[in-house]
Amino acid sequence: MENTAHEKFMRIAIELSEYNVKQGMGGPFGAVIVKDGMILARSANRVVSTNDPTAHAEVSVIRLACQELGTHDLSGCEIYTSCEPCPMCLGAIYWAHIDKVYYANTKADAAEIGFDDHAIYGELETPMTKRKLPFIQLLRDEALSAFKLWDTTENKTDY
Ligand SMILES: [Zn+2]
Repeated sequence: MENTAHEKFMRIAIELSEYNVKQGMGGPFGAVIVKDGMILARSANRVVSTNDPTAHAEVSVIRLACQELGTHDLSGCEIYTSCEPCPMCLGAIYWAHIDKVYYANTKADAAEIGFDDHAIYGELETPMTKRKLPFIQLLRDEALSAFKLWDTTENKTDY
């Protein structure tokens, strides 16, 4: 694709981010998923309007694109997001097997207006026992039975 096509998709993500603020629907974030040069899905951030802390623009647009294609695997797709993804969305992008990420604003830009992913990135780099969020392990032996079952099951959908 020519650069202008990439910019066209990014401008749609940016328009979604602006419109979201004007409508009072949530944060200034928008994202578009494209496959073979066609828009599959578009979404703004829906955290406030749906009372869902995971409804960031990227997670929301991944859900829509997967519904559209009837699959959990977005290989062959690219995402255009108005801001560099947070750790949750980055994880979702990897799990969805999206091929490429185009972004506009940086996480530093987001931090300047009060959306600070830095704290979460910091936690990820901190050993579990030293994180602000306590992690307590329970019942591993019992939980492992489901893992063993998965491991020995022949007919399963890998992802
Ligand atoms: Zn996010």
